[in-house]
Amino acid sequence: MALLYPTLYRRRITDVTVEDLRALGAQGILLDVDNTLTTHDAPDLTEEVKAWLETMKTAGFSMIIVSNNKAVRVAPFAEKIGLPFHALAHKPLATGFLAAAEQLGIPSSACVAIGDQIFTDILGANLSEMPCILLEPIQPEVEQKFIVFKRKIERVLLNTRRQRKKKEADYGG
Ligand SMILES: [Mg+2]
Repeated sequence: MALLYPTLYRRRITDVTVEDLRALGAQGILLDVDNTLTTHDAPDLTEEVKAWLETMKTAGFSMIIVSNNKAVRVAPFAEKIGLPFHALAHKPLATGFLAAAEQLGIPSSACVAIGDQIFTDILGANLSEMPCILLEPIQPEVEQKFIVFKRKIERVLLNTRRQRKKKEADYGG
């Protein structure tokens, strides 16, 4: 079960601070795309997310996009925001996370993964022995049945006592 718990909870990517990342020993940040940086159907970044990326760049973090999506979807987005990417990452397998850390030239133990899904982002990061931050998805999925099903299980998991306490501490109630 420990594999399904994030190191830290935050609501939005913009709630993750330089201090959070430094406290986790991060030099590199592995970023999920869908529902973490953008929504499934709105591939553009908001001004807030753009500013967040700038802040992290300025603070000296190296960032890479790690997505299970195909390169054809990820590449134009990555190019637009000026970040390298690792597509078809097969999260929750550790391989994509480890390859992305290598691409950054940073040991995986000095990387932090950020994403919105327990069964891909969090499980994959834990299998890679990487600290990880779980966000709330920007937009709840309505169409994708499998994701909706996973969300239901995620809600059950998040409501277990230990998760609830940690969440309250991280979110501040
Ligand atoms: Mg996602």
